[in-house]
Amino acid sequence: MEVIEPLTKPMTQFSLGLTGGIGSGKTTVANYFAQLGAGIIDTDAIAHALTAPNGLAITAIRASFGNDFISESGAMDRQKMRDQVFSSASQKQLLESILHPLIRQECEAAASALREHHPYLIFVIPLLVESGFWVESLDQILVVDCEQATQIQRVMARNGLPQEQVSRIIASQVPRSERLAVADDVINSDRDLSQVRLEVEKLHEKYINLALFR
Ligand code: ATP
Repeated sequence: MEVIEPLTKPMTQFSLGLTGGIGSGKTTVANYFAQLGAGIIDTDAIAHALTAPNGLAITAIRASFGNDFISESGAMDRQKMRDQVFSSASQKQLLESILHPLIRQECEAAASALREHHPYLIFVIPLLVESGFWVESLDQILVVDCEQATQIQRVMARNGLPQEQVSRIIASQVPRSERLAVADDVINSDRDLSQVRLEVEKLHEKYINLALFR
């Protein structure tokens, strides 16, 4: 998962950051907003596409890190790169210096493409709080929140991971309290999906109004 730096300038359209810990329900909530008409920009998918086969970052990664870091498929070798940046801060910086400008560029391009078709935009940013900067480019922040036990149970069921591994991932993310501290609104995803959907509908009305008077 990529920690992303802010856009180069504030968005010209009402823009919301949607965040939450692993398995908290971000995608579920984003899908509900999309059904109501919000424009969704999935920053993780953008970051991933850059290092997929023929991704925009591949040429620069090959030039800076060498062929060894590009797999046969033409994608970045994620495991190898993970090990590399884990053991060296300068290598991590080098990778980020390639990826971050491209992520910003692709987010801005996605926002421009969606702008005319949606009343407001939602950037889904798993590591919004960890990045610390996104906050400046966004009008509001919506946090999807649930008990840690719920996160563990849902990710174990969805990904077939052992409990310890899910707990380790949760421990590597910011604590719940830090996420909640930056939230303008919170959706509690411990509740059943029909209640989550109702919360989304209420917030959609709010965001439509905020977008009108921005
Ligand atoms: P990740 O951080 O891993 O991308 P996420 O925050 O996008 O996850 P989702 O993929 O939306 O989370 O949800 C995780 C799992 O929990 C999914 O299988 C989803 O169907 C389920 N889920 C989400 N919200 C609820 C809910 N309120 N009730 C029951 N199941 C839910």
